[in-house]
Amino acid sequence: MPNIPFAQPTLPAFEEIAEDVSRMLSSHQITNAEYVKKFEEKCREYTGAKHTIAVSSCTAGLMLSLKCLSLKGEVITPSFTFSATSHALVWNNLTPVFADIDKETYCIDPQCVERLITKKTSAILAAYIFGNPPDIKALQEITERHNLKLIFDAAHALGSQYQGMSAGNFGDAEIFSLSPTKLVTSGEGGIVATDDDELAGKLKIGRDYGNPGNYNCEFAGLNARMAEFNAILGLKGLEMLEKNVARRNGLVQLYKSRLGKIGRLSFQKIEPGNRTTYKDFSIIIDPAKAGISRDKLAEMLEKEGIMTKKYFYPPVHRQDAYKKLFKKYKNSLPVTDKVADNILCLPLYSHMDEKDVEKVCDSVSGILCP
Ligand SMILES: *Cc1c(COP(=O)(O)O)cnc(C)c1O
Repeated sequence: MPNIPFAQPTLPAFEEIAEDVSRMLSSHQITNAEYVKKFEEKCREYTGAKHTIAVSSCTAGLMLSLKCLSLKGEVITPSFTFSATSHALVWNNLTPVFADIDKETYCIDPQCVERLITKKTSAILAAYIFGNPPDIKALQEITERHNLKLIFDAAHALGSQYQGMSAGNFGDAEIFSLSPTKLVTSGEGGIVATDDDELAGKLKIGRDYGNPGNYNCEFAGLNARMAEFNAILGLKGLEMLEKNVARRNGLVQLYKSRLGKIGRLSFQKIEPGNRTTYKDFSIIIDPAKAGISRDKLAEMLEKEGIMTKKYFYPPVHRQDAYKKLFKKYKNSLPVTDKVADNILCLPLYSHMDEKDVEKVCDSVSGILCP
């Protein structure tokens, strides 16, 4: 029986980081020092963004970015995303207003966004879903027309491209995650990419309690610094990124060519000109077409030693923490509901063997076409 994990971080061997770890320890500088600066510099080079500020997590980066942009009132955001997108709004006393998604890309639908704009709206917080960029051009047009801020939860998107341009160059800020399930991991960590000098300055103070250096805090910040050890891991991860994005795209091609033959399943659409990291590879199982529910398929795969995840289920608006709020806003999210109820993410990680992809495909075929 196969034993295929859902995801695994691709990590350097100990020998590859030993020298840097030793150097870091003997320097006695263990947080926000030389390696963090070097990592930020490499992220700047990689993305082409003017500023890339290392933080302790994407969640902290989102919380700080929203705070430093002094947003008020309502922020339009998807429900089909990881909960942290909305949590960052709530921690800033902002109201998440959930917009529906496009049925093919699973990213926020700009037309739904536009319908939800009110006098209280101050920003749009969009997300790259599994690394797939949203319709950034349409979102930019809306934010310019209505004078709103545009922020991206780019947790999955270090390595993604929108129309040939690297993620990190759009909107007021884009926030990457470096947690263990993402392509580049520093253990825990995040990067805020922005071209805005003022925002970058505030973020650097904000990640250090709001302290500009004289202990006379300018605002209530966080401790959201990145530790040096995390930056050492991040540096190695970044070196492997291009190779790993290509590798995942290759594995997904293999998945799609095998599973496409079954028919009855559908895949996330990546618009021409865009590049996704495939932080996750998903399939949609429409029970009417497939003759089996998503939950049943997941259960049967698990019995065969194949781990899957139902990302993003339940969607944020149906989670206990958000149910009440969502009722108040009364908009319906039919596409979000349908995608969340039928989606299943299959095993994928950068060092995954093609043979294991074949095994997953064999099992899915065996279950769907007995
Ligand atoms: C992982 C993830 C986050 C949270 O990132 P952390 O670095 O763990 O805080 C936020 N948004 C999305 C879409 C994610 O997948």
